[in-house]
Amino acid sequence: MVGNNKLDYSSLSLQKDCKKFPYRDNMLDSLLSLARRSGRRWLYAFLSVTVALGLVVGSPHATQAISIGDLIRGGIQVIQGVQIGNMSDEQEVDFGRQIDRRLRSREIRLYRDPEINAYIDQIGKRLAANSDRPNIPYTFQIVNDKSINAFATTGGFVYVNTGLIAEADNEAQLASVIAHEIGHIVHRHVLKSIQKAALEQGLVSAAGLERNTAIGLGVQLGLRLPRSREYEYQADESGLRTLTKAGYAPIGMTGFFEKLLNKRGSVPTFLSTHPNTRDRIEAINRVIDPATANQGDGLDSAAYKAKIQKLLQR
Ligand code: ZN
Repeated sequence: MVGNNKLDYSSLSLQKDCKKFPYRDNMLDSLLSLARRSGRRWLYAFLSVTVALGLVVGSPHATQAISIGDLIRGGIQVIQGVQIGNMSDEQEVDFGRQIDRRLRSREIRLYRDPEINAYIDQIGKRLAANSDRPNIPYTFQIVNDKSINAFATTGGFVYVNTGLIAEADNEAQLASVIAHEIGHIVHRHVLKSIQKAALEQGLVSAAGLERNTAIGLGVQLGLRLPRSREYEYQADESGLRTLTKAGYAPIGMTGFFEKLLNKRGSVPTFLSTHPNTRDRIEAINRVIDPATANQGDGLDSAAYKAKIQKLLQR
């Protein structure tokens, strides 16, 4: 198609063939060189700009139906309005996998014990199936780190520190944290933060947002998602719904926050990275029905400690 001189630009869809997570589409590369060779400088300039913007927001869904003709008529705003959060599920999971690879090679060390890994995976899968976004694969991993923390990146990748697993009183409390992290994935918070950071830091060149840079931002924002009241409330709200639907006692969520707040010594990482804890407990309590707060699975503390015994003995 690209070799045909009678190429019809007006009917060409941007990123139509984009399957994985390419920030630069081969077809568009060919188009750019064709436009350059044919001396259509205005077209080359136009394509360069739209490609750059299209790449940073990387959304085949939203651009699929937009022809170049539409773009010329509608102006560049058409592309600027597209959010990175609109990338396909498949692309997002693939991106999450790349961030995971980078995290494991440079930033975190995983804890591996077949029984405890299977236990965490089982809790995670039960929650994911009852979440607001059950249709993507989820990966739950344990980070060998004593600080009380958990985080999520994108495309179903959730990480829980050994320190947090050991700190929880029961399975409902641990499940509430995992459900909260799934909430961040449901709302694509890390993806949105990557897009924001890339634009703010001027990382978007004519060639788009480089893949390596995007993965680096994903690693940093996964580990340290900017304190956002809005994001935390959204993750709590979605997480509580997930927790309850999965059959866990809703009180697990407030129970864990209360436990961390009452802890002596330095502020647990999970609280320092998750602000407004008191307000959030109140907000959660307004949604939980006191009559059913204690109803559900996961409140047997002895059973929980028995499950994670190996981790506690270290
Ligand atoms: Zn959070």
